[in-house]
Amino acid sequence: MFIVGMTELLYLRDSYISKFEAMVTDITSEGIILDRTAFYPEGGGQPSDTGWIEWEQYTSHVIHVLKKGEEVYHVLSREMPSRGTIVRGIIDWEKRYRHMRYHTALHILAGVVYHLYNSTITGSQIGEDKARIDFTLEDLSKDNVERIEYEANKIVEEGRNVKIRFIPREELVNNPELIRIKPELIPNLPSLRIVEIEGFDAQLDGGTHVSNTREVGRIKIVKTINKGKFNKRLEIVLL
Ligand SMILES: [Zn+2]
Repeated sequence: MFIVGMTELLYLRDSYISKFEAMVTDITSEGIILDRTAFYPEGGGQPSDTGWIEWEQYTSHVIHVLKKGEEVYHVLSREMPSRGTIVRGIIDWEKRYRHMRYHTALHILAGVVYHLYNSTITGSQIGEDKARIDFTLEDLSKDNVERIEYEANKIVEEGRNVKIRFIPREELVNNPELIRIKPELIPNLPSLRIVEIEGFDAQLDGGTHVSNTREVGRIKIVKTINKGKFNKRLEIVLL
């Protein structure tokens, strides 16, 4: 007998899980489904995790992880375990930790532009060794860019804790400032996840983050792009 349905997403409560055990609940042409996973599926501007799945004497590369509806599909390179097998998942930690640092850096920037200019985020993407964030702002002068970078690094240096909590969906109505994404992107779940940089900024979010802003490292804005009158892009690297 197998439990079919929602995969428990371990990374939502603890972004630092790099190894875990799980049971294979289904094998599909899209990939294998586990009862629980710490692999982050591509989404919200954060790339998919990669890594390995081990069982018995076998190891397969996890080359991509994607979420469709409520299911997470792990795409394997070689052998597939059969249904019901207990496997060990191992995340490529170097890569994931870099994503966590960049993701947290984007939160800091989102908070800074929100507090300084009341700007909201229109998009973001994390790459291998850089990231970008788009937000609403009319005047992105050189002075403004320097100010954003300065304020962002101040938050890094202050070593603020990054906390995760869950709130009932109804609470959003009273806290519209938590929503920095398009309302249609808010998951249709009774409980929503809030990522909070202590004493600075909180927002709805499903990604993985470091637990203290100091782990981000120095944020450098390397490029600005004018995407339209009210749409500006910042490209950053972490030093
Ligand atoms: Zn996030």
